[in-house]
Amino acid sequence: MNRDWSLPFASKLVIYFLRKCCFRTFIFIITISFSLAIASELDKSNSQKSHITFLGTDFNVIQNGDTPNRYIWLHGDEQTARMALEHHVNRYGGIAFFIQSKTREIPFESTMIDPNRIFSRKGTYHALRKFKPDWQPGTLKKALDNIDMERDNFLEILMPSKSGVLISVHNNFRGYNVHMEKDKSQKVSIKSDQNPRDFIICTNSNDYESLSDGPFNIVLQNIFPDNDDGSLSWEALRRGVRYLNIETRLGYLTQQKKMLSFVESNLD
Ligand SMILES: [Zn+2]
Repeated sequence: MNRDWSLPFASKLVIYFLRKCCFRTFIFIITISFSLAIASELDKSNSQKSHITFLGTDFNVIQNGDTPNRYIWLHGDEQTARMALEHHVNRYGGIAFFIQSKTREIPFESTMIDPNRIFSRKGTYHALRKFKPDWQPGTLKKALDNIDMERDNFLEILMPSKSGVLISVHNNFRGYNVHMEKDKSQKVSIKSDQNPRDFIICTNSNDYESLSDGPFNIVLQNIFPDNDDGSLSWEALRRGVRYLNIETRLGYLTQQKKMLSFVESNLD
């Protein structure tokens, strides 16, 4: 919202009341115009907020400035990643999508689904059946068709333009680490002084080259795996979108902030 009108408008009011009204009213108007000035400054520095709904779950969308980069936080139980991303977008700009959930899985119809397993039809099929193996005849196909349609609309909004990157932020807490990604990776750069549970996955070989000399664990995944699990990274690869996943131990906020700003300052 643009409130640039507030200062000149308030000034005109002050002059008017200086001429017409008593001192008390004048002080009141001064206070009001001062508040409007503060509000105006806040509007200039603050990000714009909106929200969209995907598969019945809300996402808050924070836009700060006009950099082409997009960010997404998809797992509601990974709070460190949310905090790191909020900090990052406020400082560096971009458009960030925050799922409104406290849990990893989100409700969908009569089951729960992992929101990072539904970015392909095959992945969605397995996600829908994970907690509900049996569906009435025809109902699973109908759910898949609906999700196909909603996904297209969501990705249309989420995906960056050619010059931008899509960055997702995740946390792990069950021993998941970079060594488990080696089989799916074309190149790996693992640093002996880094915790293997903190790592960056990228899908673009130029990005890998820009980042692999830095201090963090980096892997390149730019060829489709035998098994597309429906995660966002494979969909980004399908679309030729530069994608990065910044994966950090839950609770290691400073580390995740550092990894985000390292990526920000080392990519073209
Ligand atoms: Zn996650």
